[in-house]
Amino acid sequence: MALLNNKTAVITGGNSGIGYATAVDFLAKGAKVLITGRRSDAVQQAVQTLGNQADGFVADQASLSDAKKLADHVRDTYGKIDILFVNAGIGKFGPFSTTTEEDFDKLMNINFKGAFFTIQELLPLINDGGSIILLSSINAYSGMPGAIVYSATKAALNSLGRTLSRELSGRKIRVNIVNPGPIDTPIFEKEGITREVINAGLMAKVIPLGRIGQPEEVANLVSFLASDDASFITGGEYNVDGGFIVHPLIG
Ligand code: NAP
Repeated sequence: MALLNNKTAVITGGNSGIGYATAVDFLAKGAKVLITGRRSDAVQQAVQTLGNQADGFVADQASLSDAKKLADHVRDTYGKIDILFVNAGIGKFGPFSTTTEEDFDKLMNINFKGAFFTIQELLPLINDGGSIILLSSINAYSGMPGAIVYSATKAALNSLGRTLSRELSGRKIRVNIVNPGPIDTPIFEKEGITREVINAGLMAKVIPLGRIGQPEEVANLVSFLASDDASFITGGEYNVDGGFIVHPLIG
């Protein structure tokens, strides 16, 4: 039997990068998948490519009213779900001294506050015994210069995941956190980090395995944590980073 047969999953930010790769993997393992994203055209295009077990819903993770609309849509369409992968997020980098209130609010509202209230809205729809996975980052721990607010949003997410794993244990809902290192997704180009820089291997030089990761390598871990094979795993944090976090040259 496929690993995720008869399971229904919601993936926030599923139209590209890690969220999209995870949608592909969940579907291949037998799940039904609803992806969200901000851009209607990108969500529609992703759903078309993913095939008929996939569906899409346009929702801005920073908007609490969108989170409520998403919950209404999920209730009306599926009733209940088994897996919630809170993946949507943005990067915005720069030094502490020039970080604006606008930068601060945007990052916090999408990466942390939005994640928090998306879970709150969808929680009543998650079956007992379900699985929540939060997509964080090794930035939650690395102290990397130039990522001061981004890192704080991810550290807050890890704290949320740890607390939720205890609060939801009565319903046997497992909550786990995934901390990727640098992964080859559009997030870099969205932040003006060009393909040339990535291809020049500047990031890869500080990764012990000598390369940046692929979104599918994160998806493999997320699928495992979503599945019943991870039935005794909750409150855990897992790095998928080619050894980056333990490398002495980090930062
Ligand atoms: P990506 O390809 O840019 O994917 C981000 C996804 O999130 C897109 O589908 C994007 O939709 C969506 N999204 C962004 N803001 C949103 C919002 N306000 N509401 C709804 N959806 C929103 O980048 P990615 O690398 O796969 O990022 C996925 C997650 O991994 C993020 O949380 C990121 O922080 C984390 N992460 C990435 C890396 C890395 O090196 N790539 C490392 C560690 C952690 P749009 O396209 O419409 O914006």
